[in-house]
Amino acid sequence: MTKRGGALSPAVGSAPGGALIGRARMGSPGLANALLLTTSLQPVEITPVSISKMKRILVTGGAGFLGSHLCDRLVEQGHDVVCPDNFFTSQKSNVAHLLNKPNFELIRHDITHPYWLEVDEIYNLACPASPIHYQWNPIKTMKCSVLGAINMLGLAKRTRGRIMHASTSEIYGDPEVHPQPESYRGNVNPIGPRACYDEGKRAAETLMFDYHRVNKVDVRVVRIFNTYGPRMHPYDGRVVSNFIRQALTGQDITIFGDGSQTRSFCYVDDLIEGFIRMMNNTEGFIGPVNLGNPGEFTIRQLAEIVIELSGSRSEIISHPPVADDPKQRQPDISLAKQKLGWEPTVPLREGLQRTIEYFRSIDIDSFRAPTPNY
Ligand code: NAD
Ligand code: UDP
Repeated sequence: MTKRGGALSPAVGSAPGGALIGRARMGSPGLANALLLTTSLQPVEITPVSISKMKRILVTGGAGFLGSHLCDRLVEQGHDVVCPDNFFTSQKSNVAHLLNKPNFELIRHDITHPYWLEVDEIYNLACPASPIHYQWNPIKTMKCSVLGAINMLGLAKRTRGRIMHASTSEIYGDPEVHPQPESYRGNVNPIGPRACYDEGKRAAETLMFDYHRVNKVDVRVVRIFNTYGPRMHPYDGRVVSNFIRQALTGQDITIFGDGSQTRSFCYVDDLIEGFIRMMNNTEGFIGPVNLGNPGEFTIRQLAEIVIELSGSRSEIISHPPVADDPKQRQPDISLAKQKLGWEPTVPLREGLQRTIEYFRSIDIDSFRAPTPNY
């Protein structure tokens, strides 16, 4: 393959109807020629997108909760998907069903180190996302956000690829403006326990925009609000996975503080649609853009709904509040509606029902909380 018109196009072995292509590693013609000598060509079947539209897409953190759903969509569309992940907060089972697909590659790699490949697009998702995960090794979390962003931006710069970065509503901190529009600059404690994540993500946004201004890198920034769904790690400590796991195993449902704090929960399928629209928008809209479901619930309401939907007999109990816990959070998604024609479609009860079904289908005991030995 050689790189042409922003997409990787085949240099070798196109079969009738474009359905079969040779699988060689590519980039510049010189690199392709060099690699043709060493790469065995096996015919593989690629159907849904025409080869001229097929892209090489890197999804960092692609074995994680959101990343695995994104990989599903991109592989289904027929793109050549490469997924570097260090499995800190995920497991291969999230993408096991993709491993036999010819257009999917899973690679153990830590994005704090550079990665060399010819790509058209990068979705930069690699980062521990739940508070207990990102506070496990806060220095590594900051390195992942900052060094990871620098490494992926360097790759995008060299390949002239487009990069979409997964930022977060956490950049608004404990917000004093409600709901939060993209113009709100936030209220983050720079030295608190959440700062490794919040400030890391803020620095990554800064890097995205500086590489865009200075090096003309084609960036996209999405600010994700609490998203839930199948393939959340049962022990990631996030509120939806905790409450469902507790409800299904008959444990007490643990509310931190009085449960009056609010969050707005987006179902994963809706979010992934937002990712795809943001990456592919042709107006050059780079963001940042909020992606989330504006439906706002207190944490106590969430606990009650999970108990009701799961038919659990678990009791709700209170634990002491956690430090710097934002009291309220709700996305203003006017910009996403206007620029991307995007808004969520799955109501909380329906999404929770699907997530509960997923948790019923897995062996929760086979999952473990993260260890330093990943
Ligand atoms: P997740 O923990 O399930 O996925 C993160 C993935 O990144 C995992 O597979 C993990 O092993 C991998 N990873 C972590 N550090 C890495 C490193 N140094 N190198 C390579 N891989 C690494 O979390 P998620 O919910 O899927 O989140 C994905 C992205 O979306 C994260 O960047 C997160 O900050 C962002 N985000 C998620 C939410 C949400 O509600 N799910 C909200 C805001 C932002
Ligand atoms: N939370 C809770 N019990 C739990 C886990 C979380 O009450 O078992 C609360 C937490 O204190 C926060 C909210 O639920 O107010 C959302 O927490 P989560 O970790 O899911 O995400 P984030 O705080 O990053 O939005």
